[in-house]
Amino acid sequence: MPVNHKVVNELLTLAKKYNQEDVLLPVKDEFLIPENMIYVDGNSLGPLSKKAKDRAIEVVEQQWGSSLIASWNTHDWINLPQTVGNKIAPLLGASEGSVICCDSISVNLFKLLSAALLIQGSSQNSDNKTARHLILSQDDNFPTDLYVVQGLQDLMSSASSQGCELMSVKSDHIEKSIVQYGDQIAVLMLTHVNFRNGDIHDMKRLTTLAHGKGILVLWDLAHSAGVLPLALDECEVDFAVGCTYKYLNGGPGSPGFAYVAKRHLPALRQPLSGWMGHKQPFAFDHDYQKADGIEQLLCGTPSIISMSVLDAALDIFANINTLQIRAKSIDLNTFFQSCMDTLMASYEHQTEEKQDDESLVLACKKDASERGSQISYAHPSAYAICQALIDQGVIADFRAPDILRIGFSPLFLTFTDMVKAAQILANIMFTKAYLAPEFNVKNRVT
Ligand SMILES: *Cc1c(COP(=O)(O)O)cnc(C)c1O
Repeated sequence: MPVNHKVVNELLTLAKKYNQEDVLLPVKDEFLIPENMIYVDGNSLGPLSKKAKDRAIEVVEQQWGSSLIASWNTHDWINLPQTVGNKIAPLLGASEGSVICCDSISVNLFKLLSAALLIQGSSQNSDNKTARHLILSQDDNFPTDLYVVQGLQDLMSSASSQGCELMSVKSDHIEKSIVQYGDQIAVLMLTHVNFRNGDIHDMKRLTTLAHGKGILVLWDLAHSAGVLPLALDECEVDFAVGCTYKYLNGGPGSPGFAYVAKRHLPALRQPLSGWMGHKQPFAFDHDYQKADGIEQLLCGTPSIISMSVLDAALDIFANINTLQIRAKSIDLNTFFQSCMDTLMASYEHQTEEKQDDESLVLACKKDASERGSQISYAHPSAYAICQALIDQGVIADFRAPDILRIGFSPLFLTFTDMVKAAQILANIMFTKAYLAPEFNVKNRVT
C-alpha cells in the first residue's frame, strides 16, 4: 500500500507549526527516551528523566554507599514520605500536610477504606447497626480497587463486625444509586479517569451529591495525577489515592500517595498501624499511638531508593502548571485523532473499498476534551495491532479484552510524534501487518 506522501507532508507541516507554539516543548529535553521510539505509554509507565537517573546514582553511591545509616538524618530519608507528599500536593489541589507518599494504591485503598468505614460505623446510631455498610463503586473500575473491597468484605464478615459490602454499578447508574441507597452507603469509591475508555467523572458534582447523603468519598487518581487539573481541597474530597509511576514518571513500582482531608486527620484510625505511623517511632513504645499528621498513614519502612528517584522526577513539575499540561494533552489527543482520520480516509480513497468489519472503532468519547489523556480503539485483534506497533517503535498498550490504548504524556511528546505514530498505525491497519503470527503470541504483561 503506497503511503500518500502529500497527505503525510501536510500533516508534518502542521505538526511543525504546533511544535513551535508549544510552551512545554523544552521540557522534552528533561527525558531520556530511546531514539526512534514514540512512547505513547507514559500512562502506564512514565519514562526515565535525567533528574531521576542522576538521583538514582546519587542515592545509591553517595547516600547509601557512603553515608550509610547516617543518611536517615543527614539526607533526611526519614521525612521523605512527607517531602514527596508535599511535592505531589500542588498537582492535586491539596494543601501542604494532606498528602503522604507511601505503599501502593492497593495498600492505601485498604487503609483509607477501613478508616472511612470506622468513621461511618462510629457515627451511626446503635439501633441502626448496619445502616451504612455499602461501598459504592463502578463495574468497570480498575480491578484492584474492586478486589481490595472484596478482601475487606471477607475480613469484616465476622459477627463482631458491622461488615461491608461492595456494590458496583454501571457508570451511568452511580448518581441514581447514591440517591436511592444513600443511607446505606458508607463510601463512594470511584476512579476519576477510567483506565479503559478515559471517561472523566465530575468530581465536584459527585462528591457534593454523596456528601448530601452522608457518604464519604474516595477518589482514585491513577490516570489523573500529573495530567489533569485537580482540586481535592476545593471539592471537599475526603480521601484520595494515586500512583506515581504513570504520569508522574517516578519509575517502575515507585510508591503511591494517599490524601486525607485535614478535617479527618485527628480522629482517623487506619488498621495498618505500623511503627512508622507512630507518634514517636524511635521511642519504641509498647503501645501504638498514631502520629497527629498525615504521617499516621505510614506503615513500615519506606523504599528510600525508589522514593528518592520519584522525588527527583517530580522536580520537573516545579515550574509547570496543570492547566498547561491539560491544554497540551487535549491538543495532542485531538491532533492524533485527526491524523488517524485523515490517513485512514486517504488509504480508503486509494483502495475504494471500505473494510468496516476490520476497522478500528473509537471506544471513548469523541471529543478529546471530554476524556483523559488517552485515546482507545476497540478491535478484535487489538493485542496483535499493539504488538505490531511496538515492533515499529510505537509503544502503546493493550487492555483486555479488545482495547488498543494510546496515552499522551504532554511533557515529552511532540506533535510530530503524533503524525508518525498515526502513520504507522494506519499503515498497520491497511497492510494487516498485525496478522503475522509473531504478533499474536501473548506475553505475561500486556
Ligand atoms: C494503575 C492503577 C492502579 C494500580 O494500583 P497499584 O496498587 O499501584 O498497583 C490502581 N488503580 C487504577 C485506577 C490504576 O489505573
